[in-house]
Amino acid sequence: MTPLEALLVQRIALTGPLTLAAYMAECLGHPRHGYYMRRDPFGVAGDFVTAPEISQMFGELIGLWTVGVWRQMACPDPLRLVELGPGRGTLMADALRAIAVNPTARAAMRVHLVETSPVLAALQRARLGETVTHYATFDEMAEGPAIVIANELFDALPVHQFERAAVGWRERMVGLDDSGCLVRALTPGPTPAVALVPRDVPGDVAEVSPAAIALMDRIARRLATQGGAALVIDFAARPGAATLQAVRGHARADVLEAPGEVDLAAGVDFAALARVAAEAGARAHGPVLQAAFLEALGIRARAAALRRRANPEQAVAIDAALERLTGADAMGHLFQVLAVTARAAPAPPGFEGDAP
Ligand code: SAH
Repeated sequence: MTPLEALLVQRIALTGPLTLAAYMAECLGHPRHGYYMRRDPFGVAGDFVTAPEISQMFGELIGLWTVGVWRQMACPDPLRLVELGPGRGTLMADALRAIAVNPTARAAMRVHLVETSPVLAALQRARLGETVTHYATFDEMAEGPAIVIANELFDALPVHQFERAAVGWRERMVGLDDSGCLVRALTPGPTPAVALVPRDVPGDVAEVSPAAIALMDRIARRLATQGGAALVIDFAARPGAATLQAVRGHARADVLEAPGEVDLAAGVDFAALARVAAEAGARAHGPVLQAAFLEALGIRARAAALRRRANPEQAVAIDAALERLTGADAMGHLFQVLAVTARAAPAPPGFEGDAP
C-alpha cells in the first residue's frame, strides 16, 4: 500500500466515499505524496513523454506564435509570458530561443510560471534562470496584458464522472470494499456536481471538470479586460465518454492502482472551455487539431531546415518527431488547440481560417 493510499483509506473510513475529482486531486497534488509533487515524470525513464520533450520544434513554433500575437497586440512592453504547468521548462526554453530572433520582442517579455510542484519549479529555475517568477496559482499574477500557454495542464485538473440511471445521473466514487481496499462505487442518487452535466450529453456516461472550467473562466476574464491571448493544447475528451486514465512507465494502469505513484489525466472538454471563455466576455478560436495548428505555423519548413544541418541519424529522428506531433494516428489528431483572446482581437496565428 502506498503512503497516500493509507491516508485515503483512513479518510474514506471516517467520512465516506470520495468523488473521483477529490481522489484525482489528492493523487496528483497531495503536498507530500502527490504524483507531481516529488518527481520528474517525463521522458524515457519516466511515465510519459509530452510534445515539447519530443522535439524542440514544438516550443520553437509556440515561441513564433507568441511573437505573432505580441505584434497583433501592437508590441506591448512589458508583456507577461505565462506558462501554466511548465514541466521541465523545455517548451519555454525552446520558445524563448525562437522569440530572441526578435530582440525587441524578447526584451518586452517577462516570464511567469504557474507551478504547484516544488520539484518541477526547481527544475524550471535551473533550466530557465533566476529571472523567471513562480506562482502557485494563476490568480496571484499581477495585472497587465499576458500571453498564457498551457500544454498538458488542463488534463491534470480533476474530473467528476457520472452514469445515467433511471433516477438520473449517479456519480462514480471511490469507496472501500469489505477488506478495506479502494474500490469503485456509485452514489445512490444525484450529487451536487450533477448540476454541471450538460443537458445534451450523448450516451450514458458524462465527465466534467469544474476545476478546468473555473481556471478558464479566470483566464478569459483577465484577457477580456487586460488584453492578450491564451493557448491551450491537450488531448481532447470525447463527448459521452469517460476518458480519465492512469499511466505508469509508458503503459496504461488502473486508476485506483498505487495512488500517488501513477499519473492520472483526463481528456479536455474543449467545447466547454470555449463556452465558458465566451461567457466570460472573451473570444474562443478553434479548437483545431494539433496537426493543423503546427502545419499552419510552418512545422514542415522548420523540420526541413533542421534536416539540412542534421546527420542521417538526426534526420531520421526529426522525421519521427514530425510524425509523432502531426500524424493522424499520433498526437496530431488526438490533441487539439484552443486560443482565447479579447473579443475585439484578431484571430491569432494558426486560427485565421476559423472565423467565428
Ligand atoms: N507542460 C509540460 C508539463 C505537462 S505535465 C509539458 O508539456 O511537458 C503537467 C504540469 O502541470 C506539471 O508541471 C505539473 O506539476 C503541473 N501542474 C499540475 N497541476 C497543476 C495546477 N493545478 N496548477 C499548476 N500546475 C499544475
